Amino acid sequence: MARTALDEIQERVRGRVVLNAPMDRLTTLRVGGPADLLVYPEDQEDLATLVSFLTQRGLPYFVLGNGSNLVVRDGGIRGAVICLTEGFRGLEAREGASFRVEAGVAVRRMVRWTVDRGITGFEPLVGIPGSVGGALAMNAGAWDTEIADRVVELEVLTPGGGVEVLGRSELRFRYRGLDLPPGCVIVAAVLEGEPAEPEAVKERARELYARRKESQPLQEPSAGSVFKNPAGAKAARLIEACALKGVRVGDAEVSRIHANFIVNAGMATASQVVALIGMIQERVYVKHRIKLEPEVRIVGEWAKGKLRVQE
Ligand SMILES: Cc1cc2nc3c(=O)[nH]c(=O)nc-3n(C[C@H](O)[C@H](O)[C@H](O)COP(=O)(O)OP(=O)(O)OC[C@H]3O[C@@H](n4cnc5c(N)ncnc54)[C@H](O)[C@@H]3O)c2cc1C
Repeated sequence: MARTALDEIQERVRGRVVLNAPMDRLTTLRVGGPADLLVYPEDQEDLATLVSFLTQRGLPYFVLGNGSNLVVRDGGIRGAVICLTEGFRGLEAREGASFRVEAGVAVRRMVRWTVDRGITGFEPLVGIPGSVGGALAMNAGAWDTEIADRVVELEVLTPGGGVEVLGRSELRFRYRGLDLPPGCVIVAAVLEGEPAEPEAVKERARELYARRKESQPLQEPSAGSVFKNPAGAKAARLIEACALKGVRVGDAEVSRIHANFIVNAGMATASQVVALIGMIQERVYVKHRIKLEPEVRIVGEWAKGKLRVQE
């Protein structure tokens, strides 16, 4: 990014700005090169200033949540990365069992908040290490439920800097995704659960977290499930049947605990992770004739001058 553009962003934006931000430290899988620029807008006005400036200048931007569903390539991200986890942390009760939550709030905090108030419907999300913005963009879910089931409306900032409120019927959620026009940033949502007996909600959250702990490698760096479940099948079962648990490319390893997780067993690079993804897809295809589709989002650029393994 040109120096003048950087200077202008630093002059205009009130929030924290980091140059050459190390994406391996900002993602749960712990791989990836630096982003040219990382900005944490303080509030909606700050975000609007930043996004409209970038749009006017034709500069690319990427929205980062908690980085728990990302594989950032080793060359890092060109342009700006915008992260809402410092400025967008509001969470307030609305009528009945509904509430408004800002995109930077951790899913973990939101679930605890609902559980404490005897609001049921969010317990299946317990243990998902994302932000609310990321959970909405990914339509995160577990145990046959997804966050889309709970959405009343979304507040979305458009590339021009204006905010639109989109009702549930205007939103196109799909399995692990939400179709929004390019460049849109989710800033907040109104979500709705159902009133319930607080002890029962607490117990259900406890039980679901225990099940997650038992079946997932929570102590190791990962990006969660690598592949979407194909219709009528479980990706983990298909991978396990190919005897791939524990198989490695460099330090990228198919988890021995959950076959649909790739863990960073030390100093893995994105190139190794992507090579392992390709290897799994090939083996599963040969054995089951099913093409697994990544659930993780692979973003950024390959390192210049480095030989990259075929994607
Ligand atoms: C141990 C572990 C367990 C997991 N378990 C589950 C699970 O049970 N179910 C599940 O669905 N996922 C699971 N995940 C994956 C991940 O946590 C979820 O997809 C989560 O919702 C991603 O949120 P994030 O804030 O980390 O998003 P990021 O990974 O930072 O971003 C993901 C995508 O969302 C976009 N995005 C983020 N914020 C915004 C915003 N404000 N506006 C517009 N776009 C945005 C990003 O651009 C990117 O494309 C797991 C991950 C780990 C590491």
